[in-house]
Amino acid sequence: MPKHYELPQLPYKYNELEPHISEKIMQLHHDKHHAAYVNGANSALDKLAKARAGEIQVDTRGVLRDYSFNVNGHVLHSIFWPNMASPGKGGGKPGGKLADAIDRDFGGFDKFKAQFSDAAKTVEGSGWALLLHDGETDQLVLTQIEKQNFMHLAQMPILLGIDVWEHAFYLDYLNDKGKYVDNWWNVVNWSDVDSRLSKA
Ligand code: MN
Repeated sequence: MPKHYELPQLPYKYNELEPHISEKIMQLHHDKHHAAYVNGANSALDKLAKARAGEIQVDTRGVLRDYSFNVNGHVLHSIFWPNMASPGKGGGKPGGKLADAIDRDFGGFDKFKAQFSDAAKTVEGSGWALLLHDGETDQLVLTQIEKQNFMHLAQMPILLGIDVWEHAFYLDYLNDKGKYVDNWWNVVNWSDVDSRLSKA
């Protein structure tokens, strides 16, 4: 059988992002939603292996689509958790190389924050806003993801992402996605984002 993905542990307790993100949301989001993506990716790999062995017949295109959807969900959430930290450790402004790069590429932190927030708030339905590093031009760029089924560009590693699916905020903020995005900045773990830039 193929190697399997594993659900990573959260780098903090379920209630540590309160009051901005509740314990209940973190439990459901990590233990149910992220776990489902891990299981879905593993199930797709198993189906492909069984099909190669002649044990079952599959719609290869459909299974690959399932794999893409689920593995991207797994990858995005595996970045999203350490991108955040308790309000005492997270929030504020970035420092170091990351701050320099944001100043250079966005004209200052406040302009970056406004444009990233706008990207997150204007996602249509379920999706993500991401900060990427583009290796070809050596600059930081923004993108939006619809749902989570995207073709990952290996030359653009993800530095920072916000999940704006309803499951990420509805229990706490109801339909007020904008308030969730505004409060989310209080738990951004800038040292994690900076270390991702250093590795990019
Ligand atoms: Mn999610």
